[in-house]
Amino acid sequence: MVRGLVQGVGFRPFIHRLATGRALRGEVTNRSDGVVVTLECNRQQAEQFAGDIHLLAPRAATIRSVEIIRKDIRSYADFRITASRDVDNAVTEVSPDIAVCDECLQDLVTDEGRIDYPFINCTACGPRFSIVRALPYDRVNTTMAPFAMCPRCEGEYQDISDRRFHAQPVACNSCGPEYTLNEEETTIKGISAILGRIASRLNAGLSVAVKSTGGYNLMCDALNEEAVASLRINKQRDRKPFAVMFRDIGTLKEYCSVSEEEETHLLSWRRPIVIVDSTIPLAPSVSSGLRTVGAMLPHMPFHHMLFRYISTPAVVLTSGNLSDEPIITGDDEAIRSLMPVTGCVVSYNREISNRVDDSVIRVINGMTGMVRRARGFAPQPVEIASDAEGILAAGAEQKNTLCIGKGRQALPGQYNGDVNNVATYDFYRETYTLYSSLFRFTPSYVVCDMHPGYLTSRFAGEISEEMDVPLLKVQHHYAHAASVMAEHQLGGKVIGVIMDGTGYGTDGNIWGSEFLVATCHTFERFAHFDYMKMPGGDAAVREPWRMALSCLLNYSDNNFDYRSLRLFQSIDERKFSIVHSMIEQDINAPLTCGAGRFFDAVSALLMLCPENVFDSEAPMRLESAIAARTDEYYPFSSGETIGLGDMFRRIVFDIDRIDTSMIAIKFHNTIARIILDVCMKIKKETGLKRVVLSGGVFQNRYLLGKTLTLLSERGFTVFTNHQVPANDGGISLGQLFLAAERRSSCA
Ligand code: ZN
Ligand code: ZN
Ligand code: FE
Repeated sequence: MVRGLVQGVGFRPFIHRLATGRALRGEVTNRSDGVVVTLECNRQQAEQFAGDIHLLAPRAATIRSVEIIRKDIRSYADFRITASRDVDNAVTEVSPDIAVCDECLQDLVTDEGRIDYPFINCTACGPRFSIVRALPYDRVNTTMAPFAMCPRCEGEYQDISDRRFHAQPVACNSCGPEYTLNEEETTIKGISAILGRIASRLNAGLSVAVKSTGGYNLMCDALNEEAVASLRINKQRDRKPFAVMFRDIGTLKEYCSVSEEEETHLLSWRRPIVIVDSTIPLAPSVSSGLRTVGAMLPHMPFHHMLFRYISTPAVVLTSGNLSDEPIITGDDEAIRSLMPVTGCVVSYNREISNRVDDSVIRVINGMTGMVRRARGFAPQPVEIASDAEGILAAGAEQKNTLCIGKGRQALPGQYNGDVNNVATYDFYRETYTLYSSLFRFTPSYVVCDMHPGYLTSRFAGEISEEMDVPLLKVQHHYAHAASVMAEHQLGGKVIGVIMDGTGYGTDGNIWGSEFLVATCHTFERFAHFDYMKMPGGDAAVREPWRMALSCLLNYSDNNFDYRSLRLFQSIDERKFSIVHSMIEQDINAPLTCGAGRFFDAVSALLMLCPENVFDSEAPMRLESAIAARTDEYYPFSSGETIGLGDMFRRIVFDIDRIDTSMIAIKFHNTIARIILDVCMKIKKETGLKRVVLSGGVFQNRYLLGKTLTLLSERGFTVFTNHQVPANDGGISLGQLFLAAERRSSCA
């Protein structure tokens, strides 16, 4: 019995080759809990076989365990692959998309018929989830269906000893999909002419829209400032950092400092974007002043080939979409929307069935954290401890994912973006329809956020009514905590520390600095930061200076001269006085204790980011400002609410006296100290030692690292998110887990 992620990655053909190579007879079959290999052999042969499974397994397989069981079996005439008996099990058989493998890259040069064929793939690599329309995962159920295999491809597809046996997207130069380059006036066919044309455009500082695995990307030379700046203007993406694809790992390491773990991720078959420290700067507009860069390596054969043609070692590769809309997948839409941005659209004639953005991860203290879970990860399940069959979790609003339950597997969907406009809401509903049909899912229980205004909660309400099934509403930060409990299969009581931006609280205020004592059935709010007014609601998120003013008004004495601060000198006088009176007179100023808002306030006070241009810009700039190293922190007071007044007064005093980087690090240390302090208190009262950390603020590398160190020094066992993001992308898993537990305790 082989357990792990072993389905839909060419595992059974691999076992077949392994067995026939040793002249062993028997069979291999899928079951819902793993793959069962039956062999007629002795103990020693079985052990050797198990060892080889670990050693030689396809790279997209993750072997968790191989268990050898002695049994009397009937005798076999040969070794065969038997069809899955369990129909339900078919759901887990779609693998995520897999980056092109080394053998296929070799074939690109030597395999006649596939020389320079940009869609080359095999059982171990190629598109999967992005092309599947229905299950079982067979060619007819993919967007490869319109392409009839030529006799040679067909032969390989049928030959069990071939690397392309049952590789559903198998194709070659004479039978498969092909690229087309479109410019205003011309159309170019033929891969070398297309790559040549792209090269001359990039060399000339122009950009190109290119169809990738799960959607369109925009591309330009990452070393050419003029090119990057003009792509920014054309895309109307003012400052948000662009991801960069480097020619190879050697080149990447020239520009970025990369740890061992980061290198492993960069080179893995999932090929995510990894956020790493940059050493030699790229064009300044790429990262707009942040010290990090979202780096990745080529994952499609097309990318590898492109780097043979272009002279730059690094290209910007960002999502091809309009502002906050979903990444574009349709070819006509790409021409309509992206042609005006780049003047050149490169597409191919195979449809994208499932939209998947690039995944983003970052490594903190040697541990992996997801920022965005999509290509290479979706639709891989997360195993949980309870039965979640039939549960639909609608997720949050921002960075949304939805999640469905199949038995003990949670299937988090791919990243949907912020579901707050028509385009993303449509995409969200599409994802739901797709998952329901792909995974033969009918909801019997629905769970959503408590927020009354979320479109996702409205959707959950509609489904629950339509299907006449129960609806559970879960508090946002409790769901964050539960996402970690689900991943680590934690039972019993834990301390939940959730540092977040916004989330609707049970008192109607906006929460986000939560110390919870939680089980999978209930939670208690132990402590939180002081509530601050948020003048203008969401406007205060876009304009961090408003939060700075709010904090100071709350924490300073009456005759404090606000205009003495550089920050407020930079704000239009009229606007300043309007916001000032909104706070004083309580007009449109909801209460928040979201940790993110305090990061905003400090970042604004330090003039790092008075106004946000992209999500979380102010906290990112504050973290990026850390250069010095110190363990010092600011004073704070802790009762039922945690007072940050002393800290703010000291920061204001420090502003023109000490270095900004010093203030930034002391602020981060203070938050970490508060976390330690409150956890010690909870431990004293309850004896609890297990802490789960979640919430978007923990994507801050410094804060998470510092918190982990402090807590583990004092004997706490700390758990964080690894398989789903700590940000709102992880909410749906938490919701699903809580609903599963709730249902099983009611049953
Ligand atoms: Zn391959
Ligand atoms: Zn062919
Ligand atoms: Fe959140």
